[in-house]
Amino acid sequence: MSGLLVLDSVSAGYGPVPVLHGVSLSVETGSITAVVGANGAGKTTLLRTVIGQLKPAAGSIRFDGADLAATKVEDMVRRGIALVPEGRGVITELTVEENLRLGGLWRRDRAAAAALLARMYELFEPLDRRRKAPGHQLSGGERQMLALGRALMAGPRLLLLDEPSLGLAPRITAQILGLLRSLCDDTGLTVLLIEQNVRSALSVADDGVVLNLGSVVAARPAADLAADTDLRHTYLGF
Ligand code: ATP
Repeated sequence: MSGLLVLDSVSAGYGPVPVLHGVSLSVETGSITAVVGANGAGKTTLLRTVIGQLKPAAGSIRFDGADLAATKVEDMVRRGIALVPEGRGVITELTVEENLRLGGLWRRDRAAAAALLARMYELFEPLDRRRKAPGHQLSGGERQMLALGRALMAGPRLLLLDEPSLGLAPRITAQILGLLRSLCDDTGLTVLLIEQNVRSALSVADDGVVLNLGSVVAARPAADLAADTDLRHTYLGF
C-alpha cells in the first residue's frame, strides 16, 4: 500500500485487553477516509494508536513512508500529524484568538503563523466575529470550528478527527464536513475521520473503512459502502 498513512496488520489495546486485531488500511494523500462502525468497534482506539498514545502490540504504522513507531506523541505535530480529539480540546478559559495562536506556537516562522491566523478567520467566519470571546461562550459549532482551526494552525499534512459532529445540529455538521472537503480539494490536506454520523461521513469521504469488534470488515470507496445495503444493515445500523 502506498498512501500517506499506512497501517499494516496493527494490533493494539489497553494493557492486556486487545481492541484492534490486525488492522490494515491506507489513507491516500489529499483524500478523506472515514472510519465507521458501531460503538466500541475500536475507532477511537485506532486514532490513539496512530497518534502514538497507544503503542501497537504488533504491526506497523508508516507516515509518508517512514515508520512512526519511535515518534513520541508530542513530536507528531512536527511530523505533520494533528489530532482534533472527541470533545474538541478547546481551552475554554482562553479566547478564540489565544486558542488559535496556541496551535501555531511551535512554529518559528512568525510571518507564516500570522498569515495562517488570517487564513483561519477567512475560513471560519463565525470565529472572526468572536476573536476576543472566551471558549466557554462559544456555541457547539463555533467550538468545533475553533478546534479544527487550532489543529490547522500547526500546518498538518494529516488531520485526525474524532467525532466532529458530536452534539452538533445537522446543518452545522454539513457546514464543517463541507469545509473539510474544500480543504482537501484546495490544499491537498489528508483527513482520517472517525464518525458516528455514518451517512454524512460517507457522503463527504473518498474512502470508507468499516470496523467491527476491532477488525476491518470492509475498505472501499465511500460511495460503494453507502450503496451496500447488506453491509449497512449488518454493521452500520441504517
Ligand atoms: P465509541 O464510538 O463508543 O467511542 P469506538 O469505536 O471509538 O466507540 P473505542 O472507544 O475505541 O471504540 O473502544 C473500543 C473498546 O476498547 C471498547 O470495548 C472499550 O470498552 C475499550 N476501551 C476504550 N478505552 C479503554 C480504556 N482506556 N481502557 C480499557 N478499555 C478501553
